[in-house]
Amino acid sequence: MKEALGQSRPILKVVLDIPLRRVFDYLLPDAMRPEQFAPGQRVKVPFGRASKVGIIVAVADGSVVQPTKLRRATALFDDQPLFSKRGLSLLHWASDYYHHPLGEVFTAALPPLLRRGRRAELELGKCYRLTVSGEHAATAGIARAPRQNSLLAILRASQDPLSDRELDERHQPWRTTMRRLIANGYVEVDEYFPLGIGTGSSADQPLPAVSEQADAVRMVTESLGGFQAFLLDGVTGSGKTEVYLQVVAAVLALGCQALVLIPEISLTDQTVQRFQRRFALPMAVLHSGMTDKERLTAWLAARDGRVSIVIGTRSAIWTPLKKLGIIIIDEEHDGSYKQQDGFRYSARDVAVMRAQRDSIPVILGSATPSLESVYNVRAGRYRPLKLTKRIHASQVPDLELIDLKNGDVESGISRQLLVAIDEHLNRGEQVLLFLNRRGYAPTLLCPDCGWTMACERCDARMIYHQGKERLRCHHCGADRRVPTRCQDCAGEHLLMLGQGTQRLEATLKANFPAARILRIDRDSTRRRGALATMLKTVHAGEADILVGTQMLTKGHDFPAVSLVAVVDADSRLYDADFRAGERLSQLLTQVAGRAGRRDAPGRVLIQTYVPQHPLLQTISEHGYEGFVGTALAEREAAGWPPFAALALLRAEATEVGAPMDFLQRARLIIAATESKALEVLGPVNPPMAKRAGRYRAQLLISAPRRSTLGVALRTALPRIELLPAQRNVRWSIDMDPQDLN
Ligand code: ADP
Ligand code: ZN
Ligand code: ZN
Repeated sequence: MKEALGQSRPILKVVLDIPLRRVFDYLLPDAMRPEQFAPGQRVKVPFGRASKVGIIVAVADGSVVQPTKLRRATALFDDQPLFSKRGLSLLHWASDYYHHPLGEVFTAALPPLLRRGRRAELELGKCYRLTVSGEHAATAGIARAPRQNSLLAILRASQDPLSDRELDERHQPWRTTMRRLIANGYVEVDEYFPLGIGTGSSADQPLPAVSEQADAVRMVTESLGGFQAFLLDGVTGSGKTEVYLQVVAAVLALGCQALVLIPEISLTDQTVQRFQRRFALPMAVLHSGMTDKERLTAWLAARDGRVSIVIGTRSAIWTPLKKLGIIIIDEEHDGSYKQQDGFRYSARDVAVMRAQRDSIPVILGSATPSLESVYNVRAGRYRPLKLTKRIHASQVPDLELIDLKNGDVESGISRQLLVAIDEHLNRGEQVLLFLNRRGYAPTLLCPDCGWTMACERCDARMIYHQGKERLRCHHCGADRRVPTRCQDCAGEHLLMLGQGTQRLEATLKANFPAARILRIDRDSTRRRGALATMLKTVHAGEADILVGTQMLTKGHDFPAVSLVAVVDADSRLYDADFRAGERLSQLLTQVAGRAGRRDAPGRVLIQTYVPQHPLLQTISEHGYEGFVGTALAEREAAGWPPFAALALLRAEATEVGAPMDFLQRARLIIAATESKALEVLGPVNPPMAKRAGRYRAQLLISAPRRSTLGVALRTALPRIELLPAQRNVRWSIDMDPQDLN
């Protein structure tokens, strides 16, 4: 074929950041030789009328494209590939496993500035200090050189050398003058790590490990240098972080680097701080709240081996590290490790694949491990590490169920809970109330006709927010004034029903006027730094009652909290998703874990209208472990993960019938892949059949093995892509979906 199209010549096979599963062929830029190119380098290529940054995936010596149609790459950005061979192989694996276009996979793995063609070289910041003769000149003054004199004065006034950034802030313009001072020998230049990289301290000493911690640390350190996945299953407050720290110390001692993933930096800042207080070494933090420049710097510093520890959120799993020795995934069960749009990967699962390729251990840690990970332990793939006891004497408290049916309930709070809050406040302890709904009230109802205020663009109710007096949709962000009359019958007696955190806060204020109440949710922490300030207030003991959403449940160590209450456990009991039970159990266990972390014994109260519900019974009687036992048996009987592999084909469109129509056709193609083991369910509308103005439908594909599913999708997807019906919809494939709603 190649020969038929003329003589062979070197060709760059390039992927681009576009949603197409294909590779593009380009001729080499003028006057360049094939030896200068390798997979993993970026090139500039013409695409349509524009130009794009592409990644070379292969250098070939011919193309099936007609020679007249071949275009020429115009520039090479990198002398060296951006990824190692193993790094490239991981990206290829991810593209293949998640059935996602390779170009977009590369994009996800690169910091934004590299996607746009910025140089992949670490630019160290510069800082300036006076030399001895500079000191003299600063005192004596240089004749007729006012600019130099004032810059000398600024340098002399500063204790430390001044960086570019500080000078930009204090003195403008200064660069020309500085060049003169350097040329005259008055100033010396030093390099320093720019923003995004900090050097920790050794303020904290390692704690003497308790025996379970010591066993865990020993097991992992013995496995350094080879692949092994560990599940560190440790109850809340059992000292998992200390295990990470001691293992990382061993890794650093070997001259290797550590990669630590946490679910959300702002919520788990404590972990970052503990690493920074333990190791007097450069470390980088990587998350989406950073500037592009900071992210680039951290990424390059990691790649060049200039930082010892990288702590980051989901996307940090793609950071290249020169000498990676271990990966740690804290709170491995957390849903935020799964990307929910675009390239839908699981950072936890990618971490295990990466550790395998790099021949290093990976630790998945949690107090409430996912059923997938527990199953992997049972199947012998992961080794279990257990921390069964809390470090500080108090036991993990039992859950007590409060039956809302027979109680006296005021604005969502039962008499029993009020009494308990009062008791704990009187003892000078903190109380935490959990309610996973922000705003004031979730329903605006007309009692005359039964009308409720729904979002026009979603199948969801609008939530009333106090203060700004607005109704908001939490799904699409729609925002509108509160109507004064029913939009159906013009009735004037609209009611606010249900509880949000704002209303809960108001009810508590009315009942405990002397208590200092702090509400922590997405609304109250919108401003940068607001959450950190609030957490400080809690730790300083300057708050008595904390009211909050899921934000409050993640990993926080609040020593003075002794009473935790879940205000409404029921909304999730009736969620149709097969994972709803697992999520609720994890949530209740994690919330409960916030109580009694120090000496005061903790108490955990769960308010419910259905205390007899089997899930609540199991959790309160047998804890999370009890739940895991029954849940795994149920999943096996029903053929759900981890006993089956799932893929979800989603479609949405502004036209009501289009998603269903497309998925019907896709279903036929998948059914025709003649894989008997495949089960195809749907298409169906998800519970929220319309969101942000688009109609939605989905098709669930299940197989007893991942490989079966992979083979079938590899055959089916290229055909689905050719369906004319796919032009009318937005569609995507989600491997191992976490959310079936
Ligand atoms: P987890 O991450 O399992 O919830 P942490 O690592 O936060 O638990 O530990 C809970 C508390 O116990 C922390 O305040 C920590 O400093 C302390 N701690 C952990 N290990 C030890 C130890 N070996 N000796 C004394 N205190 C410890
Ligand atoms: Zn009405
Ligand atoms: Zn909406």
